[in-house]
Amino acid sequence: MPKISGRCLCGSVSYTSTADSPAMVAACHCTHCQRQSGTAFSMNVAVPADSLSCDGDSLATYQDTGSSGMPVLRSFCSKCGSPLFSDVKAIPGLLFLKAATLDDASWVKPAAAIWGRSKQPWASLEGVPEFAQNPPRA
Ligand SMILES: [Zn+2]
Ligand SMILES: [Zn+2]
Repeated sequence: MPKISGRCLCGSVSYTSTADSPAMVAACHCTHCQRQSGTAFSMNVAVPADSLSCDGDSLATYQDTGSSGMPVLRSFCSKCGSPLFSDVKAIPGLLFLKAATLDDASWVKPAAAIWGRSKQPWASLEGVPEFAQNPPRA
């Protein structure tokens, strides 16, 4: 698996993780991810928060609220608008990278799809186990 590193569209913000592999990969069909991504779902690559370093002074954050009622800090590039990663306060210790901002996203394989109840009919992920909302906690 290639190194976990990536950047926004304009290249002003780049990131790299020291993690060898992601903690989890999951697609999210929630309406907030749909709006932020501008498409049917977000593909999230979770890495330990302390493994990520980020460069670029155009990194901005929008404070959203998750279904738990806790904040979801959505980081993006304020120059080009690319969503980069989310800090979901209900799930501490992880950051959720937007998979398509990786330098190489070809290895990404979702283990689950969440918030299937708001999934668009034109955006099914074949063979990926789907949960109506958040998956049961392990
Ligand atoms: Zn940018
Ligand atoms: Zn979502």
